[in-house]
Amino acid sequence: MALISFLLSLIPLKVPEYWFKEIKKLLTQFLWGNKKPRISSDKLKVCRKKGGLGIPDIHAYYLAFNGKYPMLWAYYHGQCEVGSLLRLEQKILHECKKETSLSSLRYCTDVKTNIKDPIISFSCKIAKTIQKKCSINGIMLPSCPLWENPLLTAGGKTLSNETWKNYNIRNLGQIVKQNKIILFPVFKNIFALNDTVFLQYLQIKSILKEYVTKGISLASDVETDNKLKEIIKNQGTVSKLYRFIHTSSCNILDKTKAQWEQDLGKNLTTEQWGTIMQPCITPQRLHKMNPDTSDLCWHCGERGSLIHLLWQCPQMKQLWAGVQNILCSILSVDVSICSEVCLLGLKLDGVESKVLQHLLSLA
Ligand SMILES: [Zn+2]
Repeated sequence: MALISFLLSLIPLKVPEYWFKEIKKLLTQFLWGNKKPRISSDKLKVCRKKGGLGIPDIHAYYLAFNGKYPMLWAYYHGQCEVGSLLRLEQKILHECKKETSLSSLRYCTDVKTNIKDPIISFSCKIAKTIQKKCSINGIMLPSCPLWENPLLTAGGKTLSNETWKNYNIRNLGQIVKQNKIILFPVFKNIFALNDTVFLQYLQIKSILKEYVTKGISLASDVETDNKLKEIIKNQGTVSKLYRFIHTSSCNILDKTKAQWEQDLGKNLTTEQWGTIMQPCITPQRLHKMNPDTSDLCWHCGERGSLIHLLWQCPQMKQLWAGVQNILCSILSVDVSICSEVCLLGLKLDGVESKVLQHLLSLA
């Protein structure tokens, strides 16, 4: 696996789709010893935090290696040193697409930009795949640029405004707050502009309104925006980007999580869900891997799911009752035990003292 990803990191050009399919096939054959797989590879790939087994995702590695660069585009505002690759790429882009900025390319992944330069066009494709895989919509990111951006056009042309640029107005997050375009008097005050910009303000407002009527929440995905910025601007970009792509694309077990939440009557945090899904070999899981083994509980003969083994099994009920008795007698408080407390380590209602709460969770 390490060799494959090393190889991928050395090839800065498109790797055909069928290659990834071949790798997947080889991996499945290896894992299941040439027999029919019993758990889908998508489920095995889900990261441990989300309840999977965290098997490396070669395609996500490929995206992370090649995504590092186009992700950096977002923060290019023409201030890079002469001779830098970003500056060169902006120049090439301006030669074939005058009214498109390099920074906008990371956001307008669904707009056809017809770029002839093979490297830029490849990077665009990578950015598009990443956004799609992680369900990111460019216009929902506050850092989405306002100028020379194919997402925001009037009469088929992108917008550009030198005056506004001089006042450092560059991205969507500056003029949209809580999915509303800020009112003109407020806007004017924040950036110390005069009334002459009113018409330009109206133009942008009407363009943005079209998105709002389509039900899109403009500049609302602050969390993703900050995460990506953090990943790109600090060290270890490739591995962090890999983790980001990997985590945001594994939603396959979300249904299972929802079922658990329904059963427990509580919403689960990512940490709690991780605790529950830590590889624990239940009869049900064993049966899935090898149909010759039984999927019934070792104690009572009912279906041996994880929640059964930890909580519902009559034998477990006895154990928990014992625990409750001991706790009550040692701590001389009336402790009533429920699944959230025992399995997820939540706080007990009605127990005020911090020391006691701590003792209880230790128990
Ligand atoms: Zn049982």
